[in-house]
Amino acid sequence: MNNYNYTVENKFITYAKIDTEADPNSTTFPSSMKQKDLGKLLVNELTEMGVSHVEMDEWGYVFGTIPSNIDKKVPTICFCAHLDTAPDCSGKNVKPIVHRKWDGSPITLPDDNTQVITTEKHPYLKEKIGDDIITASGLTLLGADDKAGVACIMDFANYCMTNPDYKHGEIRILFTPDEEVGRGVDHLDMAKVNADYGYTLDGGVLGSIEDESFSADAVKITINGISAHPGYAKNKLVHSIKVASDFIDRLPKDSWSPETTEGREGFVHPTSIKGELESTVITFIIRDHITAKLKTYEDRLEALLQETISNYPGVTASFEVTEQYRNMKEVIQTVPFVTDYAIEAMTNAGVEPKPVIIRGGTDGSRLSFMGLPCPNLFTGEMAIHSKHEYVSVQDMQKAVNTMVELISIWAEKG
Ligand SMILES: [Zn+2]
Repeated sequence: MNNYNYTVENKFITYAKIDTEADPNSTTFPSSMKQKDLGKLLVNELTEMGVSHVEMDEWGYVFGTIPSNIDKKVPTICFCAHLDTAPDCSGKNVKPIVHRKWDGSPITLPDDNTQVITTEKHPYLKEKIGDDIITASGLTLLGADDKAGVACIMDFANYCMTNPDYKHGEIRILFTPDEEVGRGVDHLDMAKVNADYGYTLDGGVLGSIEDESFSADAVKITINGISAHPGYAKNKLVHSIKVASDFIDRLPKDSWSPETTEGREGFVHPTSIKGELESTVITFIIRDHITAKLKTYEDRLEALLQETISNYPGVTASFEVTEQYRNMKEVIQTVPFVTDYAIEAMTNAGVEPKPVIIRGGTDGSRLSFMGLPCPNLFTGEMAIHSKHEYVSVQDMQKAVNTMVELISIWAEKG
């Protein structure tokens, strides 16, 4: 890639300025129609580059194909990134600022000078001194999550289309809406994706590769109390809110929660409680990297519930478990070379590979179970979903290098 003129920085800045904030309260798909504004631009750019089968479908998914230029039949690889930004922080009027050859001094964001990005708050930045760092201006997020991924894929496409000597199998490009509100693959037509293996470009630190996520269930508990007129309730009324409080109080205080676990430890986490005299509903999320452990947590939670209500005669409760997503490793370990090739590609691109386990899920977890084994690769996006969000241009360029090396490995080894 010696003399290649990267387009990733300019593309990123263009995409970051387009508001694509997802709306968790919307019932439409995509959740906000403005996500299609970026989709349309990408369709135009891909078409101009000469990429084949470019389309945006009614749901806002963008597809494109870079046809194979080798005789040998090798697997079709899909690169995927998401168009939307997180609703946690405004995505309106994003003003990206490039801090060229950043010298390591604190970055005060001009539109709100209380927003100061420092190496103390963001230790990864210590490794980025001398890089070109892009930030927002203080009032919004930057949207590097995941416009860094979008820009890397677009620059990779540009590299393929402008370097006919670069040998590769068929490559599929996929951009999805609504990842941030957990619906990113809800309407995705896998027949249209039509690839053998995939990679999402939505990871953080240089060299990170994630092929292991949480497995996730949700639990809904309903506690039914006994209502009576409060003036005449003696020895009759049993308040469901008080039973619910007693139950919550029995949860372990020093383990089992997000605030007491890390690494491979799972947790049981109440996410909402809503109640009145007669009935109270509590929802939980249950997380672990080992799917079988979810059942152990759920059994223990249910036992705590039964133990609680046994102290309140006449009170009843229900306990409903819903599956959310599963650890993508269960799929990827059947095709370990998908991860191995990515690690080899990083090494070839001069990037030190850093396998990380995700304490959460990604679209890749769901795609893996939909038939597209799909680890997540770094883009350099950092401090995501916040006004401090930043990305290093050089990290994005190295992600492009990694993609180029990765596709060479697939072309060679099939
Ligand atoms: Zn993301």
